Amino acid sequence: MTKETAGMETRAWIWNGSIVPELTSLPLPELREHDVLVKIRAIGICATDLHIMKRSAIFAEPPYALGHEAAGEVIKVGGAVTRVRVGDRCTLDPSIGCGSCNACLSGDKHQCVRNREYGINQSGFWQEYVVIPENNLYILPESIGYDEASQCETIHVCLGGMDKVQLRGGERAIIIGDGPTGLFFARLCRLMGASHVTVAGSRKKRLELALAYGADEAFSIREKDALSVVEERSFDVVIEAVGKAETIQLAQKLVANKGRVLLFGLPEHKVEFDVMDLILREITCIGSANAPRVWPRVIELLASERISVAPMITDRFPYEQLDQAIACAFAGGQERIKVIVENNG
Ligand SMILES: [Zn+2]
Ligand SMILES: [Zn+2]
Repeated sequence: MTKETAGMETRAWIWNGSIVPELTSLPLPELREHDVLVKIRAIGICATDLHIMKRSAIFAEPPYALGHEAAGEVIKVGGAVTRVRVGDRCTLDPSIGCGSCNACLSGDKHQCVRNREYGINQSGFWQEYVVIPENNLYILPESIGYDEASQCETIHVCLGGMDKVQLRGGERAIIIGDGPTGLFFARLCRLMGASHVTVAGSRKKRLELALAYGADEAFSIREKDALSVVEERSFDVVIEAVGKAETIQLAQKLVANKGRVLLFGLPEHKVEFDVMDLILREITCIGSANAPRVWPRVIELLASERISVAPMITDRFPYEQLDQAIACAFAGGQERIKVIVENNG
């Protein structure tokens, strides 16, 4: 049953160090006992992809295929695979641990010193086909489309952040940032019982969607100084989902005494923090990246329609035009939220 992919090739969009990917073909790796061959059906273009392409992320060296948000269809399974079958529709967890260290055995494979991630530091889901361990797949119910399911990875990082910050019913929360993660955070804060949810963002369409997702108020920090709209030190929970020095420092100003700041947006440079203020006001700062344990709950949230992705998808491209999808994401604009690449062939 092994080596069933030997000699097979896949089309792949490769990041070669510039901001324009190139379509080429790559040999597929061997299908080992616990591996699955997946045809990628939908890919989400993420701000992290753009960060990597602009060389503003420290962890990436070209060339390889980016892409860490995807859903697809099982095409072949290795001899020892038991959880999934040919034809299953799945979402893909891009994170791989060694499987035997303390971090991996505790369910924290993203903190394994040998952790690898598809599309971050090894070839990812901008390929037409990928070989991936079966334990990285989560089966989708029919009700969840591939396009929506490509966003399970995005929702998973947000849900993992919520688990870490432990928002309690009746607490006041503010999310700084109105990208897809900022909007998902707003939704999750509402679902988890925040008494008041504020979104401080920058673009009209996203701020409108924040209200539809359950925020009580949403305003643009491009147009208004945040402190003219909301009170300093008035939020039990502040979620920073931008990653700029100004917004991280704003998070510190907005958090209440003894409050928690979830640091989630990736900064491109080192950021100064007022440590004296942290100590005297007993503020807790929590970093959050991945969260391998939350995937089954992400599927539950989508299947139960507690969270919907569709309103966020503003642009769609076929696989053959992934380069145009990237150009579209780079172009940004008032109306654009999430760019999805689909392969229906
Ligand atoms: Zn992402
Ligand atoms: Zn490990």
